[in-house]
Amino acid sequence: MRAGLGTDTSVGAVVPPIHLSTNYLFATPEQRGPYDYSRSVNPTRDLLNEALAALEGGAGASVVATGLAAVLLILETEVPQGGVVVCQHDVYGGTWRLINHLHQQRRLKARFVDFASPDFLPALDGASLIFAETPSNPLLRITDITAVVEASQGAKVVVDNTFCSPLLQQPLSLGADYVLHSTTKFINGHSDVVGGALVSRTAEDAERVKYLANAFGLTGSAFDSYLTLRGLRTLDARLRVHAANTAGIIDAISGHPALTALHWPGLPDHPDHDLAALQQSGFGSIVTIDLTGGRPAVDRFLDGLEVFHLAESLGGVESLVCHPATMTHAGMTQKARAEAGITDGMLRISVGLEAQEALISALVAALDRARVETR
Ligand code: PLP
Repeated sequence: MRAGLGTDTSVGAVVPPIHLSTNYLFATPEQRGPYDYSRSVNPTRDLLNEALAALEGGAGASVVATGLAAVLLILETEVPQGGVVVCQHDVYGGTWRLINHLHQQRRLKARFVDFASPDFLPALDGASLIFAETPSNPLLRITDITAVVEASQGAKVVVDNTFCSPLLQQPLSLGADYVLHSTTKFINGHSDVVGGALVSRTAEDAERVKYLANAFGLTGSAFDSYLTLRGLRTLDARLRVHAANTAGIIDAISGHPALTALHWPGLPDHPDHDLAALQQSGFGSIVTIDLTGGRPAVDRFLDGLEVFHLAESLGGVESLVCHPATMTHAGMTQKARAEAGITDGMLRISVGLEAQEALISALVAALDRARVETR
């Protein structure tokens, strides 16, 4: 909440000013100040870097242009040419597409596995990097971070913490080497910035990441950093309303006959409920439903849906619904989607901050419509 407030020494602004200048003055060609060129280093981005590193308990953070830029950055930092990446099979579709692309290009060897299956341990043989996303997108499966770290056999462990944010889960304290965020989601929280961040546990790794973020030209803009820091100030307050609304929705739609499955780690019958209760300090506000009537039921659900917008992304103040098979996870092959458990009847819901009664009545009406043909 308070990151950077009251630190401005130029005019005493309470809210730290935005520094848009690309260039900074040199006294002589040899004498540069702490800032020289904005791709490399920028005071506004530095405030966000510091805030995210502090929240995650890391030694340093690099804010980059998108969440996927942070994925590319960790691959470039930790995976040598031809090195092995072991990645959860049910990650965000764009992450899967990027790692799969680099595999096709022979830049690295990707092994996509179910981290909860017996295939996980053998897959670690010779790995440079283990990529976990927990809770996973869109199935909300939970990976036991401590167990992955213990099994890692020298491979570095990165955890995509986008769904929880540092307020609900702190992977570095469980032994992970890096935490990755799409700050586009909860951290900014207002659906008006695309951004990412990579937080490192050690100062040495943070320096390597910072070097490559600049060398590859991945760093985030000052304006985006300013907006994201502004969004971050209300993260705690937003999460409390997200949580209350999600709890109300779960109560209202559990057991609805239009559902074959309701995926949310807060449900006692969720397969990873106990682990989520241990590892996280909240269950999050992303809920995934699977409709009994498959794709036709999805169309009936969406036709006339109120309050919720059909759109990609999640974690903003507004409630959204998305059809992963054709939207966020369209970049995966059909086979990979099937292996990850993503069905054509699945919808991912991002619960926003609107009045709870409005959200519940919109969802119940949509589920009633979805059910009609299946009776
Ligand atoms: N990680 C997760 C869990 C995501 O959901 C997303 C985007 O949806 C990303 C990474 C990629 O982030 P961005 O869209 O900011 O590039």
